[in-house]
Amino acid sequence: MHRRILAPCALAAASLLLAIPASAASFAPGAPGIGDPYYPYYGNGGYDVSHYDVRLQYRPATDELEGTTTILAKTTQDLSSFDLDFLLDVSEVRVNGTKAAFTASGEHELVVTPKKPLAEGTSITVVVRYGGVPSTKSAYGFSTWHRTPDGAVAADEPEAAWWWYPSNDHPLDKATYDVSVAVPDGIQVISNGTLQSTSSQLGWTRWNWRENKPQATYLTTLAVGRFDITTGTSEGGIPVVNAYSKDLGENDGAARASVERTGELVDWLSEYFGPYPFGSAGGYVPDTTTGYALETQTRVFYSPRQFARGSNTSVVVHELAHQWYGDSVSVKGWKDIWLNEGFASYAQWLWSEHEGEGTAQELADYVYDSHPADDPFWTVAPGDPGPDNQFDAAVYDRGALALQALRNEIGDDAFFAVLKGWPKKHAYGNASVADFQRYAEQVSGKPLAALFDTWLFEPVKPAAPAARTASVAKAATVAAQPKSWKKIEATHDVHQH
Ligand SMILES: [Zn+2]
Repeated sequence: MHRRILAPCALAAASLLLAIPASAASFAPGAPGIGDPYYPYYGNGGYDVSHYDVRLQYRPATDELEGTTTILAKTTQDLSSFDLDFLLDVSEVRVNGTKAAFTASGEHELVVTPKKPLAEGTSITVVVRYGGVPSTKSAYGFSTWHRTPDGAVAADEPEAAWWWYPSNDHPLDKATYDVSVAVPDGIQVISNGTLQSTSSQLGWTRWNWRENKPQATYLTTLAVGRFDITTGTSEGGIPVVNAYSKDLGENDGAARASVERTGELVDWLSEYFGPYPFGSAGGYVPDTTTGYALETQTRVFYSPRQFARGSNTSVVVHELAHQWYGDSVSVKGWKDIWLNEGFASYAQWLWSEHEGEGTAQELADYVYDSHPADDPFWTVAPGDPGPDNQFDAAVYDRGALALQALRNEIGDDAFFAVLKGWPKKHAYGNASVADFQRYAEQVSGKPLAALFDTWLFEPVKPAAPAARTASVAKAATVAAQPKSWKKIEATHDVHQH
């Protein structure tokens, strides 16, 4: 991720060359991208997916993956063909039971041409049969498939799906999932939601996971390896499933001392954000050499390195906060990333305050004071950072600072009403930064355009008067570093490779 995506026009030209039946002049190819200016070819046009049924077999020793994905969707325009985003080798595609023509195109497009064009509003069932070695596939020169000594992991942002299932790969098109993967006996499979069942036959064990709430493609995760799985229920009644690689070595204790607190922290966050939106919670720590964590829905991905300096509840709070801010309420476009990272970071500030390691105000003052006006930090606008800076530290720190400024502007009552009301208003949907501003104005009864512009969109350090108005950095002396800062700062590479 964070690579600049070149946008050659060859793909669009190739799509236009596809034959369109004369009798179906209004039927056109679906667009190769969903329309996100940050990533022109991510997602696709012309249909909306409601469910993915991903049924696979995986061999850890050779990284061979094979199986079928069945996609339930509805067309949103008259289609002569449509694209899926995918990298593995496809052997057959069927649309509503009939074999369809297909071809690979561009960096990660699979162009599917059904025998008969599809009218707008048609329910379609697309079956894709495929196989391959994911670690040998790349797009734009990178791969996010992580092999481990005992298996593999798919967990990355904004792209992870291409290496294991075909999809409409953009948060705008969320769907429910059944993920069923067969692996050699003695190996475990971790995915989202609830483990419905396992069954063993002829040396293979099949693991059947289900997420029955809408889920974005990048939040769908798969981990294969030797795991120790723990289960429980939070005091508030949320079922918790966690998993730890059996090879975490020195990090094992600190990982468990952090992730085993998932239930407690879900309940604590519920006080701020309202009822937990999903039917299960948890996290997993595979044996990867990565350094980041990711808010994969209901089952957070943590790198072992997150726990190298000891237990880290701050990162757990960050990723669990995303279950409301990012997973249940997802971005409309990737430019809205502040709705994910600003709020997950602010949740860490609230946790710091709760733990007596620095108040949210002290953290805000520290962020404001510790970056002088000529620091490039201030040139990144969290409200629209651009694809190169989508996960820049400013999106996190200035993003959380903006929320403290909002809190000081509208007061605690309105601010915490907004924090709790927003996930309910847009539950399981998508929203933009502009939608959030309107909502905060509606709840607080105050015009907030100037405040949002100052703290989220101007590529400069907000001037002292604005900071004073927002009660940030009111002291003449430079704010001291709060105790929680180093852990919060370490969460900034949650999404870095
Ligand atoms: Zn995050």
